[in-house]
Amino acid sequence: MIPRIQPAEHRPGWQEQLASAVRSVDELLQLLHIEPSATATPLLQHDFPLRVPHSFVQRMVHGDGQDPLLLQVLPVAEESNQAAGFSSDPLEELGAMPSPGLLHKYPGRALLTLTGACAVHCRYCFRRHFPYTDANPGNGHWQAAIDYLEKTADVSELILSGGDPLTLSDARLYSLTDRLKDIQHLRTLRIHTRLPVVLPARVDDGLIEWITSQPVRVVMVIHCNHPNEIDDSVIAALDKLGAAGVTLLNQSVLLRNINDNVATLTRLSQRLFAAGVLPYYLHQLDRVQGAAHFEVDIKRARILESGLRAALPGYLVPRLVQEVPGEPGKTPV
Ligand SMILES: *Cc1c(COP(=O)(O)O)cnc(C)c1O
Ligand code: SF4
Repeated sequence: MIPRIQPAEHRPGWQEQLASAVRSVDELLQLLHIEPSATATPLLQHDFPLRVPHSFVQRMVHGDGQDPLLLQVLPVAEESNQAAGFSSDPLEELGAMPSPGLLHKYPGRALLTLTGACAVHCRYCFRRHFPYTDANPGNGHWQAAIDYLEKTADVSELILSGGDPLTLSDARLYSLTDRLKDIQHLRTLRIHTRLPVVLPARVDDGLIEWITSQPVRVVMVIHCNHPNEIDDSVIAALDKLGAAGVTLLNQSVLLRNINDNVATLTRLSQRLFAAGVLPYYLHQLDRVQGAAHFEVDIKRARILESGLRAALPGYLVPRLVQEVPGEPGKTPV
């Protein structure tokens, strides 16, 4: 390590970085030196506002209104198009909750939405219309979720999801997992999070301590869609997680004009692997209202998948899947 020349330099912690995330289209375009005319028409009024940490903005290409990272976060007018076949609860999740915030749709594993908050607002997100205030277990409701897990011996894996569970403080994470320790049939704790990618500072010593204190195997499924999302700070965060014994997997969403070509998806798998992460799922977009312009049709998705099979070893080819309401797992396309 090269010693820091300015000893007094202040390096903001993850919570400060989260609080100072970019929240305005004007500010974002100014930071990137992009003329508003060089992008799609911004969407000005919406209930899912722009949100993106500076560390993610730094990985966007200056001056490029079509940058694949920018396109994931910039609210555009096309979001207000009403598209046939797209709905606000495409997965019909609201009917699958045995207790607030706990989804038990698939055998063996249950998913707990810990918070509605995310560090970044991804425009294609299927949770953009999710009524988190009703469905969020919050502190008071965790007990109901824990009671359900205790009496449901079939569940051996608990998935922490959201929102993004790692937007919670370490203290909140401990207060949940302390209550899970007595449930003998839980063997795996899985964390679905985009934070190691969009806010790698979240992977600090405190988080690593929380992870290593878990008596069960910890799996982390990160969410990365494009190779440009992986810079040195992300690699360093992933290295720390790997060194702490975390099994690292990635899920991506297939997104039009962002990662819908074989070369980009191939580089993504290779970069992930170099950072110690195996590709897990490549999701066909969930048909949520406002995201139709991101959809890649299934025929093209299949062609891309066979291109990946030809270009990569089998273990670097993600499974192309789709969520079909009522199915007992993700459905292969
Ligand atoms: C995606 C999902 C899971 C996890 O599925 P895996 O195939 O094990 O990754 C579990 N529960 C719910 C409700 C899900 O949406
Ligand atoms: S839940 Fe995941 S995909 Fe959706 S906005 Fe949050 S980080 Fe993005």
